[in-house]
Amino acid sequence: MTSILDKRFRIKDSIDIYIDDRVEERTKIQFYKINTREKISITADRQVTEVLRRLSGVAPVQEELNELGYTFDEVEAINLFTFLAQKNVIEEITKTPPPINNHLIDRYLRQINFFDNFFDHVTGYEAQNKLLNTKLTIIGAGAVGSNIATQLTRAGLGAIQIIDPKELSEGSIERHSFATRLNIGVPKVTALKEHLEQINPEIRITTSRSLLTPTTNLDALIDEDTDLVINTADEPYIGHTSTKLGRYLWPKQLPLYVAGGFDAHHMSTGEFIIPGITPCIDCCSNTFREALKDWKPTYASDQINTKSRPNPIAEDSFQSIGGSYAQSLFSSSHASISIISFIIKKDKNLPKLSKRGEYLINHGTMTWFAMQKNEKCNVCGIL
Ligand SMILES: [Zn+2]
Repeated sequence: MTSILDKRFRIKDSIDIYIDDRVEERTKIQFYKINTREKISITADRQVTEVLRRLSGVAPVQEELNELGYTFDEVEAINLFTFLAQKNVIEEITKTPPPINNHLIDRYLRQINFFDNFFDHVTGYEAQNKLLNTKLTIIGAGAVGSNIATQLTRAGLGAIQIIDPKELSEGSIERHSFATRLNIGVPKVTALKEHLEQINPEIRITTSRSLLTPTTNLDALIDEDTDLVINTADEPYIGHTSTKLGRYLWPKQLPLYVAGGFDAHHMSTGEFIIPGITPCIDCCSNTFREALKDWKPTYASDQINTKSRPNPIAEDSFQSIGGSYAQSLFSSSHASISIISFIIKKDKNLPKLSKRGEYLINHGTMTWFAMQKNEKCNVCGIL
């Protein structure tokens, strides 16, 4: 059987090593992941320090150990290298080429390096490959939705479906990264598609100018091959459209991320609804209803009435709601990082916690609000 000591390893480029050998015999070695600031410490014999300093990846570990002329306990050496590999401190040198093309490595190298530190269960290349093979649906190409689409496209997303009925207006320029003087009056989905294709001509994009309402046929609206749906539509009320989407997506095992929305969510992020893992959409709605019952009007889903507004798809329907580009970027950045993490971790054990976060700009603090499962819920509860 091949032992880990028969493989070739080197310390990753993104790892700094600090060695404190002021104490005799035993040495404290700290591995510092540059990209994530994570520290991993071990205490080891002095000779281990020498091994790590000279680890080159040119020969199998066993040979490098022998060349140093030290006698090692084989079990201890196996344990050490298994630990360092699990912690993503060392990388195996193999003849297998990285799973993505060279031109993509040039494009995404810094991010691949970050992923290498950020995720323990996959290499940076494998993480990047997962993004390249993922398709998302974004409902709402507004200030938050369009910036999520832009960030994920820059990150190397493979395909995206964009759904939004509106056109860009003078007022869009303030908060939509893709809006300029030149595309006022152009449908948002068309302008955003062009913008994303300029960032990455290889991304596959489909668009729809449908307005999501309580009567929308989601089978016809949402592309069948999507991996995840993000709801950022501000009208009708995002709580109602999210309920409709969440109920539709759960039995299909498709996750839903709720972001943005007009309702004072300028610097908020989340929640994630992941079938079989987090609370379902109805439990999330109930959590909000319970928490907010004293100060927020409550709605029933059958009360959605877009006709009560003069023009439900006009850009300035909610002109009085305030917000800046910087706030939209904060929201969309949080969402993008959560979504990238999900895409890369989805085959592993995901946290069961689903929460909505909000940055309170006047206080300089981030607050978190956890969704609760109703134990009797026949969708997500403990039966
Ligand atoms: Zn539930």
